[in-house]
Amino acid sequence: MPPSIMPNESHPAPNANRRRAAFFDRDGVLNEDIGFAHRPDQITWMPGAREAVKRLNDAGFLVFVVTNQAGVARGLYSEEHVRTLHRWMQQELHAVGAHVDAFYHCPHHPEHGEPPYRTDCACRKPEPGMLLQAMAEWPVEPKGSFLIGDRDTDLQAAQRAGIEGTLYRGGDLDAVVAGIVAGIMARSTDVG
Ligand SMILES: [Mg+2]
Repeated sequence: MPPSIMPNESHPAPNANRRRAAFFDRDGVLNEDIGFAHRPDQITWMPGAREAVKRLNDAGFLVFVVTNQAGVARGLYSEEHVRTLHRWMQQELHAVGAHVDAFYHCPHHPEHGEPPYRTDCACRKPEPGMLLQAMAEWPVEPKGSFLIGDRDTDLQAAQRAGIEGTLYRGGDLDAVVAGIVAGIMARSTDVG
């Protein structure tokens, strides 16, 4: 059991088996947003992105990617492209001792493409569906969980799922995450 989820005598976790989670938007947060990237050669990692994931792994957080991929609805690429790209990203993360626990993508768009992808879904951010799915499939403790995104719609999804959201404006993602984690840890031992 990682140190961060050891039960604390004075402030026991609501459920000791639950873990905090970090939700990452993908394009513009983990990798540069070039618009509809769907192949490994189109991916440039943001500075500190892989290190940030490793930091969260080491701190005992579950790590999820929640990404709108309307390029599928638009017919630009397939869901298999998305899954293959995410497997490649996972391999890249493994190379630095990091991992994502699960990738969630929304292939829909309300106005573009054809059914079934053209639909008013519950997963396209700002809807919280991908976050709620992760929280249903994994033992997530919402308190102390957070999302990092580069758009307001990411933050709206976080708010609707009942977790904190941080707007990433570029720069060293590992430094941003280190600050967020320090704040969460301070609050969790601070209450009195
Ligand atoms: Mg983005």
